[in-house]
Amino acid sequence: MNSGLLKNLSIFRRVHIYKVALNISSHLSLTCACLKTHIKMTMNKLGNLVMDKWIEGDGTGSTLYNAINGEAIASTSSDGLDISAMYDYARGEGGHSLRKMTFQERGLMLKALALHLNSKKADFYKVSWATGATKIDSWIDIEGGIGNLFTNASLRRRLPNTPFAVDGDFIPLSKEGTFGGHHLLVPKEGVAIHINAFNFPVWGMLEKIAVNLLAGVPAIVKPATVTSYLTEAVVREIHASGILPKGALQLVCGSARNILDYVDERDVVTFTGSADTGRLLKANERIINHSVPFNLEADSLNSAILGPDASPGTPEFDLFIKEVRKEITVKCGQKCTAVRRIMVPKGHIDAVQEALASQLAQTVVGDPQAEGVRMGALVGQSQRDDVRAQIALLREEAELVFGSPDSVETTGADSEKGAFMSPMLLRVDNPASVTKVHEVEAFGPVSTIMPYDSIEDAVALSKMGKGSLCCSITTHDKKAAAEFVRNAASMHGRILVLDRECAKESTGHGSPLPLLVHGGPGRAGGGEEMGGLRGVKHYLQRTAIQGHPSMLTAITEQYQPGGAQPESEPHVFRKHFEELEIGDTVTTAKHTVTEADIANFANVSGDNFYAHVDATSLEGTLFEQKVAHGYFVLSKAAGLFVDPRKGPVLLNYGIEECRFTKPVYPGATIGVRLTVKEKISQEKRDAEDVAKGIVKYLVDVYDETGETVAIATILTMVKKLDQS
Ligand code: NAP
Repeated sequence: MNSGLLKNLSIFRRVHIYKVALNISSHLSLTCACLKTHIKMTMNKLGNLVMDKWIEGDGTGSTLYNAINGEAIASTSSDGLDISAMYDYARGEGGHSLRKMTFQERGLMLKALALHLNSKKADFYKVSWATGATKIDSWIDIEGGIGNLFTNASLRRRLPNTPFAVDGDFIPLSKEGTFGGHHLLVPKEGVAIHINAFNFPVWGMLEKIAVNLLAGVPAIVKPATVTSYLTEAVVREIHASGILPKGALQLVCGSARNILDYVDERDVVTFTGSADTGRLLKANERIINHSVPFNLEADSLNSAILGPDASPGTPEFDLFIKEVRKEITVKCGQKCTAVRRIMVPKGHIDAVQEALASQLAQTVVGDPQAEGVRMGALVGQSQRDDVRAQIALLREEAELVFGSPDSVETTGADSEKGAFMSPMLLRVDNPASVTKVHEVEAFGPVSTIMPYDSIEDAVALSKMGKGSLCCSITTHDKKAAAEFVRNAASMHGRILVLDRECAKESTGHGSPLPLLVHGGPGRAGGGEEMGGLRGVKHYLQRTAIQGHPSMLTAITEQYQPGGAQPESEPHVFRKHFEELEIGDTVTTAKHTVTEADIANFANVSGDNFYAHVDATSLEGTLFEQKVAHGYFVLSKAAGLFVDPRKGPVLLNYGIEECRFTKPVYPGATIGVRLTVKEKISQEKRDAEDVAKGIVKYLVDVYDETGETVAIATILTMVKKLDQS
């Protein structure tokens, strides 16, 4: 047994079980002696986080092995867990607390969690090694996961400071303006069940819980058994931190084949894993009978295309070789986004094969802790057996041109005890008339090279994967890129166009990004688990609401056009953040626009566009006489609505959705209605910071006929009364 890893796993368990046990002890009055026995007994068995208590499953459970040396490192069982009670606890305790929080509060909670886990990441790296991961592999998993928490935390800035949100715009539904509609987004009242794959034990969990927690929904996570010890280590840290409310996160390590037996219409299920398991679970009776949203992210036969212009000697050729080599070797090829099919212009196939083989030959395989090792092991022996079986299938159609499924030279490790495998390159010369290379996923360091004749041909080959998570084309030819992307996009979740201009900062073919869609059509599962606010909306119920605009204002806490505009006393600029009510309005004095106003504004701004300065130039235009600058109208509006004395308004920092809707000619008399549209509280950066919030105002500028001539939303920063 590897004493180093056992020590790392044990340190985790000792610290966290001790903390948990201390809590338990206050209830159960356990003696110190009892605590020590408890710690010792649980040392090698993973815990399940059930209703905020760490519980081992019944029986001996499954044994988990170190991928590098094959030694047993832990066991896990989910037998005997009361899964039904876990659902109830999540929906009750967890959901209740999360739904009371606003998006801002949930975002800050994610940020605190990200900072906390970041401070502990060195411990996770130590445990991650046993999964066969190199430092870079662990970085993707651990820091990629933490980065995802940070990104989702920042999304709070695009959401209101309420537990709910609105979607889209107010929709007028009547002639008189007394009836309209909107869409409200409220957190679902169930639980997010995440069934994850083995390849990203940290990222796989964090990228998913970040989204449901921001939405206000608790989670039960079921990591894949084989690498669950790393997920467990992270969850212990999350739980011990106390950052999440009780019931917001529970963990089931072990096989838990009954995990979906309690889902109902309140819940959301996400699955990441093989297409076969995904299909099986999606067909679960409860999923169908209760119309449970099931987000499926499955294996896919991702493709990398070398552009027709990227011949040997071009920067794009070298970039392509580097990118494909990386995709084959990173995480030992165990990435759902890894390149499985390499499509190259027919005339370059030998050059690509030679360049890739020479790069792959330099990949040192072995114990990631040994000097020079670039590729670690698959996560276990049984995964290696799976990959070998899939390669055998691929070889029925393709020729193995580099590497071997049966032998590999390793550094610092025994190639038989660990789950090592050499990188492998296959080649097929008639890709359009074969199927296996487009359908069989060998989830390891394996990829197949194939020729194409034209862009149209490359598009067709890429689509033979029947739906992928991602695809890339390496080209500096904008026409070729546009033709490929527009025609191939319908079958791929994400497409990277790589060239010399973006290469330095490109995040690469295989990196899903939290703000971009991750998921893909068809074989890839038809899911969309990330994508910024799109991902969050999976956990929110969108409900159409209809009524009088004043009623919709009250429900949405955002001013809706046509809603009541009570005159504010005093002026809104004299009120602190807390004192402002949505709908509070200032109706200003009026101003009659003169020719001098227009001439002066042209002088000050330097905007001498003919329609403002030359009355003789207007024939054939939309204007009848010299027209006031739209920016003058808006500037004059500010002059009318601003209360200039020093007060709670700290600054004006922007304008959104500005429109000039009717020409303003000399002689027109304009006035403004300034209405509080939305309030967003801001957190203090530090103790010295001024407590404040953002107030959005609707600026409606109208003329003597009552018609709107300009409309905009302005953003102001307003001090709070409470500076604590
Ligand atoms: P898998 O065998 O399909 O297992 C995935 C998850 O499903 C595991 O947690 C597994 O638990 C669980 N599971 C299996 N049968 C179940 C059942 N009857 N009831 C409830 N849960 C069940 O996939 P894997 O071998 O872990 O992962 C590798 C595959 O995932 C590859 O094909 C890869 O392409 C794909 N993948 C896709 C994505 C993506 O975003 N599209 C990401 C990563 C991986 P146990 O471990 O306990 O069996």
